[in-house]
Amino acid sequence: MKLLTTVRQMVQAREASPRPLGLVPTMGYLHAGHLALVKRAKEETAAVVVSIFVNPTQFGPTEDMATYPRDMERDLALLEQERVDIVFAPPVEEMYPAGYSTYVEVEGITSRLEGERRPEHFRGVATVVAKLFTIVRPDCSYFGQKDGQQLLVVRRLAQDLNLCTEVVAVPTVREPDGLALSSRNAYLSKQEREAALVLSRALRRVEELWRGGERDGEALRQEMRGMVQAEPLAELDYVSVADTAALEELGTVDRPAMASLAVRIGRARLIDNVPLVEETP
Ligand code: AMP
Repeated sequence: MKLLTTVRQMVQAREASPRPLGLVPTMGYLHAGHLALVKRAKEETAAVVVSIFVNPTQFGPTEDMATYPRDMERDLALLEQERVDIVFAPPVEEMYPAGYSTYVEVEGITSRLEGERRPEHFRGVATVVAKLFTIVRPDCSYFGQKDGQQLLVVRRLAQDLNLCTEVVAVPTVREPDGLALSSRNAYLSKQEREAALVLSRALRRVEELWRGGERDGEALRQEMRGMVQAEPLAELDYVSVADTAALEELGTVDRPAMASLAVRIGRARLIDNVPLVEETP
């Protein structure tokens, strides 16, 4: 496994790499969710690049950039085990040198949900992902359903800017009790971790109701709201049942949709979602 830290090295390696080339962008502190993306990339491509970069432009001024958990040594050991070909881990100055002034804005869907609460977030995500796609030129790139809105933003970006990569969505990996794996779970105390189960429980309930034929969007949102409000350690940010095309809140769930929520527990802000999509026979 090669560890590369400069754009120049990465460009050279990409030119020498067998194809198809897969890219898994991450911010490190890897867990089984990230590794599911890596495994999928290994299955589908001839060489896999994993990027590890805690991207400053996607964090707001009051967010957790400085304290975001990091453990490069452990990450490299895990990726070596997965037989990853290249780890691209540039320092911040390599991605954003002095004078850097170009940003990518995806309009529309970025004004809702996470975008509404984190005003600069998706501009930072779209910018760094566009840069990574340009530097690595992956044939396929792998993103988790866990960050459902991000996945929609990246698909839009790849399509609109003709970035020539197939964006592959990988289902959310959960703990046996339902908690979606997240690097930010590291912020939770034992008691808070227990309380954090309310996210997956609420989503499971909504999925169950939807499978049972409930199509009233507000009834589904209300169900989630009620469950989160009943958990004393949880502070609800939002609940949503929105279509996956424009992320508009649905009165009637009559198209492919995503139920999602954001909840604060202690110092962690957790997000989770389930797709509500009819399976095609
Ligand atoms: P992050 O390091 O949090 O930026 O995540 C890197 C990639 O891993 C993103 O595409 C995430 O959606 C994905 N990811 C994070 N957690 C999970 C999970 N529990 N299951 C599947 N994918 C995940």
